[in-house]
Formats: sequence, structure tokens, C-alpha cells
Amino acid sequence: MNARPSRPPPAVAFDVDEAFARLREAVAPYPLPVLFALAREGHGSPFEVVVACIVTIRTLEEVSLPAARRLFAVARTPAAIAALTPAAIDALIDPCTFHEPKSRSIHAIATRVDGEFGGELPCDLDTVLSLPGVGPKCAALALGLGCGEAHLPVDIHVHRIANRWGIVAAKTPEKTQRALMEVLPPERWLEINELLVPFGKHVCTGALPRCSTCPLLAMCQQVGVTRHR
Ligand code: SF4
Repeated sequence: MNARPSRPPPAVAFDVDEAFARLREAVAPYPLPVLFALAREGHGSPFEVVVACIVTIRTLEEVSLPAARRLFAVARTPAAIAALTPAAIDALIDPCTFHEPKSRSIHAIATRVDGEFGGELPCDLDTVLSLPGVGPKCAALALGLGCGEAHLPVDIHVHRIANRWGIVAAKTPEKTQRALMEVLPPERWLEINELLVPFGKHVCTGALPRCSTCPLLAMCQQVGVTRHR
């Protein structure tokens, strides 16, 4: 374990293309983030992304991925989920944190999408943000993954790592999102979430990041990192 009270500037300037290439290689051994994995399994509609994102909130991926799969195995369309009771949804996702309010939100969303939008969640940010339990991260994932639009979902990993790199200096995920959109080209906005979720779990961890073996060390300012492995 190394203490690092003061640090020189990075050996090389932060290069987006090079950083993404190194990130892709670094996370190749690890599972895809839950929503990206589900999308590749065929659960990539905006509605399914919203539902799965609610399931994942404050819940370990190892718990939320099988919970979302259980729910979608029983019901995956707005009409099918609306036909369930919140208690039935709860029974399918019950290992997840906040499973009871999540079940009520999922049921309410399905009922609204089925009744108000004819079973298709519109690719419209204000509409998605108006759904119960849906915040900026889930809305950006729904529109990015589900609609193919350029949106930048910022979760705790993206927020922490982008600020450690020193390419943004923002106190909240919302401010990090706006700052990163200035730094990264739109074609990178969704991918940075896909890459930094596993990178944040396995390399640039919240406590004691693995800087000494990190492939981005030469271009990272390590902002706020006082101790690392
Ligand atoms: S692990 Fe360390 S060197 Fe790598 S990105 Fe995180 S803070 Fe920077």
C-alpha cells in the first residue's frame, strides 16, 4: 500500500482514444454491466432498460442481474408487467435493496406506458424522467441503450473516476455529466458508462484503487487519491 501526499503531473496528457483503448482491454475479463448484459440478451427496449435500471439501484450486480432476469422471464412488456400485482413483482426481485418501493414504481410505470403510450415508452427525456423512481442516470441509459441516442449516464463509478483522472472537476454526478459532455465526443458517452462500471469495481475502486498496476496511470492526475495499491 502506498501513500502519495503530493504528485507530479501525469507523464502524458489524457488522450481519449488511447484511454478508451486501454479501458476496453482492462475490463475485457470482467462481466458487462447489468443493463448492457441484459440488452445483449434481448432486453434492450427503453421500457426494459428503465425497469432493469430501477432493479439495479443500490443493489449489487450479482443480485440485480438475476432479479431482472427472473422478472423478464415472467413478464417483459408493459402490458404483461401491468397485469402482475406489485406483490408479484416484489416476489421476483425481493433480494434487491428497496424491493417494495421498486416493485410499486415498476408496476406504475408499466401501467402508464401500457395505458398512456400504447405499450411503447417514448424516446423523450422529459417523459422518461417523469416516471416514478427514474433519475438522470436511468433516463440516460434508457435513451442511450434503448433508443440509440447520445446520452451520458453518470453513476458513482463514472463520477469518481473522471474526477480522479482530472479531466473534470465536479462535485456531483449531474455536474460531472455536464462537464464530461464537453470533454468527450458523443459517440463515447454511452461507452464510458459501459467501461467505467467494471473498471470502477475491479481497478479504480472507491477505496485503495489499484494505481500501481493501472493501465491509465501515466495519464491520470490521481486527484484525491491519497492511498492506493
Ligand atoms: S486506478 Fe489510480 S491511476 Fe488508475 S485511473 Fe484510478 S486513480 Fe487513476
